Amino acid sequence: MLYIRRSPIIGYFCSVKPIIIAIDGYSSCGKSTLAKALAARFGFAYVDSGAMYRAVTLYFIEQQIGLADNDAIEKALEAIHIHFEYNPEHRRNETYLNERMVEDEIRSKPVSDLVSPVATIKAVRTAMVALQRKAAINKSIVMDGRDIGTHVFPEAELKIFMTADPLVRAKRRFAELQAKGEKWSMDEVIENLKERDRIDSTREENPLRQATDARVLDNSYLSEQEQLDKVIIWVKNLLSART
Ligand code: C5P
Repeated sequence: MLYIRRSPIIGYFCSVKPIIIAIDGYSSCGKSTLAKALAARFGFAYVDSGAMYRAVTLYFIEQQIGLADNDAIEKALEAIHIHFEYNPEHRRNETYLNERMVEDEIRSKPVSDLVSPVATIKAVRTAMVALQRKAAINKSIVMDGRDIGTHVFPEAELKIFMTADPLVRAKRRFAELQAKGEKWSMDEVIENLKERDRIDSTREENPLRQATDARVLDNSYLSEQEQLDKVIIWVKNLLSART
């Protein structure tokens, strides 16, 4: 069974019709940074769908579940419980796998190296998509991932497809990992991003694609604040067009 326990600060219920903002794009484009800032700005819930695939991957690694072992995968998906909680001390949403906080472990190299192959598995995607849709029931939400605008919420009112120069992305990711004390070389970072993008874009089940009605946001040369300001205008325009 899979579920999301709503933390008090992310369980925002609107009196107006809830809005869904879907943010998709390549690895390390800053999707989560934008999604979190946007959710905080408007008081919407935020869900990091990549964290779900990462939590499943961590479980598979720990339980030594082979990616071709369909029976073990089905059983594992039944046994996996994922939820998110806001940690005021760390000032971040944290991912829990079976009641264990795994926010840092799911960003480790072994998980990053295996997550895209795990995310190609149909049973895994079906379970995660169900969980993602459940998280958006009756509330406004910002969700980032790879198939949010194309598959999870094709009806989303605002879809953003993020992209950035591959070298800029790799440099940002490298700096992020260094800050966390993770020991990756720049070549390893480049290879991981390239390989994840390749697998994510070419898999059979809901590959990474730009939705035809998505707005493209290339943030190669935008600061976090500049990109946020741009998207705030999109959201405000959308909200005012509804009233
Ligand atoms: O967003 P993040 O880079 O943490 O996602 C990790 C991986 O999870 C991606 O590389 C992709 O393989 C998978 N993923 C996915 N569909 C999503 C979100 C993430 O396949 N909606």
